[in-house]
Amino acid sequence: MQTALSSIANAVRRPNRPPPRLLAVSKTRDAEAVAAMAAAGQRAFGENYVQEALPKIEALRPLGLEWHLIGHLQSNKAKDAALAFDWVQTVDRAKLVDALARHRPDDAPPLNVLIQVNIDDEASKHGCRPEDVPALADAIAAQPSLRLRGLMAIPAPAPDPARRRAAFRAMSALFDATAARHPHIDTLSMGMSDDYVAAIEEGATMVRIGSALFGPRPPKHKDPEA
Ligand SMILES: *Cc1c(COP(=O)(O)O)cnc(C)c1O
Repeated sequence: MQTALSSIANAVRRPNRPPPRLLAVSKTRDAEAVAAMAAAGQRAFGENYVQEALPKIEALRPLGLEWHLIGHLQSNKAKDAALAFDWVQTVDRAKLVDALARHRPDDAPPLNVLIQVNIDDEASKHGCRPEDVPALADAIAAQPSLRLRGLMAIPAPAPDPARRRAAFRAMSALFDATAARHPHIDTLSMGMSDDYVAAIEEGATMVRIGSALFGPRPPKHKDPEA
């Protein structure tokens, strides 16, 4: 486990860049598996489903882990997400910005937020259009209970690595454009088990890794947006 962790963390080091952060994607894994990964030194974990995550977050609270929501968030679950998570990576509409801001408790640190961008996946209903990013970024930045940290993407499943790389590169350009207006943003979340090396080469600062760390998932959980 330690080996998988450090080999992924060290996979690509680019000159003059900090190493990318590793988010361990723990959907479908039980609290014991997360605790074992935490014992190996991993602090940040990603979950897709609010209902599945809540009992794990509660059970592991003494460990002080950092929890990221990386699955599609329905507005009626925004309250639960704003209470339990440290980051929400899938903000893609203004209504969700308002709901998360309203429900984040005053005594909690600001909720870290990434804007999910639909960079190339015509089949997916999730993620905003690239041209919607500036308005959403401004809306998030205007909320004291939220903290805009950057962008996230799940490119279309493409057998063609060049197409995947083009999507990563487009995200990187969009990140730079967003940073021109919001200079404090620091996170570009892209890349999963089978493409994280290309994602890091194209500028990812955070990769989201599930199966390469924990082993294969049951097939019904394959689709990241299911
Ligand atoms: C499941 C999932 C991952 C991790 O996928 P692996 O291929 O197991 O690394 C990353 N991001 C999102 C949004 C996911 O749903």
